[in-house]
Amino acid sequence: MVPEIHETALAQHAMGPEVARVLRAYKAVSAHDAAPLVDDLLAALDPDLTHHVEVLAPDGERWRYVRWGSALMAACGLDMTGRLVGDLLPAMGEHYAALIARLEATGKPLLSIEPDAMPARNRFWERLVLPCRGSDGKARILAHVRPRGGREDLLHAVFEVAQDAVLVLSAVRDNAGRLLDAHVVKANPTASRLFGREPGDLIGASLLTLFSPLSGREINQRCRRVIEGREADRFEIDLSARAGGEWLRATIMPLGDGAVVSFVDVSDLKGALIAAERARAALAAEIRQRQRLEDELRRLSLTDELTGLANRRALLRHLRREIRRMRRHGDPLAVIAVDLDHFKAINDAHGHPAGDALLVGIGALLHDMTRRDLDLVARIGGEEFMVVLPRTGRDEACGLAERLRAELAARSWPIGGTELRVTGSFGVIACDDHADPRSLIAQADAALYRAKRTGRDRVVVCEAPDPTSQQSTD
Ligand code: GH3
Ligand code: MG
Ligand code: MG
Repeated sequence: MVPEIHETALAQHAMGPEVARVLRAYKAVSAHDAAPLVDDLLAALDPDLTHHVEVLAPDGERWRYVRWGSALMAACGLDMTGRLVGDLLPAMGEHYAALIARLEATGKPLLSIEPDAMPARNRFWERLVLPCRGSDGKARILAHVRPRGGREDLLHAVFEVAQDAVLVLSAVRDNAGRLLDAHVVKANPTASRLFGREPGDLIGASLLTLFSPLSGREINQRCRRVIEGREADRFEIDLSARAGGEWLRATIMPLGDGAVVSFVDVSDLKGALIAAERARAALAAEIRQRQRLEDELRRLSLTDELTGLANRRALLRHLRREIRRMRRHGDPLAVIAVDLDHFKAINDAHGHPAGDALLVGIGALLHDMTRRDLDLVARIGGEEFMVVLPRTGRDEACGLAERLRAELAARSWPIGGTELRVTGSFGVIACDDHADPRSLIAQADAALYRAKRTGRDRVVVCEAPDPTSQQSTD
């Protein structure tokens, strides 16, 4: 890469603001038609600029460094004071000779931007070369020289511009090497905003006090662990209680005998996640509530309100299921229909509420006398019940119907201050393979009405498929 040399708009071509400052000072001390005295110019420059200054004086045909700023010494690791230009780097000598030739031709400042002689350093030298004179009246050259664009510049720029708050910590140890504390040695502007302190204020701050405003103890402990264990750590800090919903993501990386701590504000992200989680929970609650309502509706749609037994719809559904099961496994299935005898008379004599109480009691009796885990008792009309008996043959079903009938006939019900008594008529049907729910109910009903016709308080069996045989157990 060849050097760039600029003769105009030097401040604009410069890689930093210092060139403009030096040029202002140069202009201020320049006489109308002569180059300024080098000492005047040096006196007019701020110290941070003079550290970067080299001054050349003529020595025969060549030029010699008569001043070599401390910053240049630090950047190159050499002191060139007293040496001839090009002594160490002949290429540098040639470049400088070309610059000086142009300077002598124009008498005007020049800006040169040169790649470093060592390409691996990946930096440039920015050299503002100014014609001056010495108190002896001879020519002098003052150059303001700065390394630019190197790794440090880059890191510094990144550090300054970072949206993350970054702190560099250095360990403080006792003589035995035990970690006592850590101090801030560098902090970027974002960190100073986060802590509400001037950047200078943060330098030297102790770990022990630094984080107390930000859920202090935990960060403190984690920093110590990273410094001791030399392993990075990453976690989130909830400051929502403190500052209206703030969340920070912290990263602690070991660095030398210390650590770099960075904080990034993840409140927006976290806020969105929390809002999404709340919405999800609200939706889940809504779904649960709907599910409960649907379950309740389903239950109501299948339940007889007065007795809490299954209703007609539930009976049909249950029968369909049991018929399928019967076909699959070949188990027998039977149904008993029950209608209370002369129930109207009970209502008429004792009132509808008493009739209701009696229906509830009889529902419970049927329920108690059947198998809880297998049988289904339904109230399918005013005072008519049906019992579905899976895995039950005709004789067993008849036996059960007879026991129910006898128990009902034997009971008296203390309701409304009197003892009520009621009997029931029973129809029994044993299902065959061709049964369907409605015809089963109809056949059971047919047997039941035969029981009514033949005197009530009795059991009549319907012999499927041809319901001709009858059994009366009066
Ligand atoms: P039978 O069956 O022996 O022929 O006579 P019944 O009087 O029981 O028959 P019917 O079908 O004529 O009358 C049924 C009565 O059941 C009519 C009504 O008063 C009563 N009933 C129906 N549903 C209810 C109910 O929910 N509560 C009460 N308390 N009574 C009801
Ligand atoms: Mg009746
Ligand atoms: Mg009836």
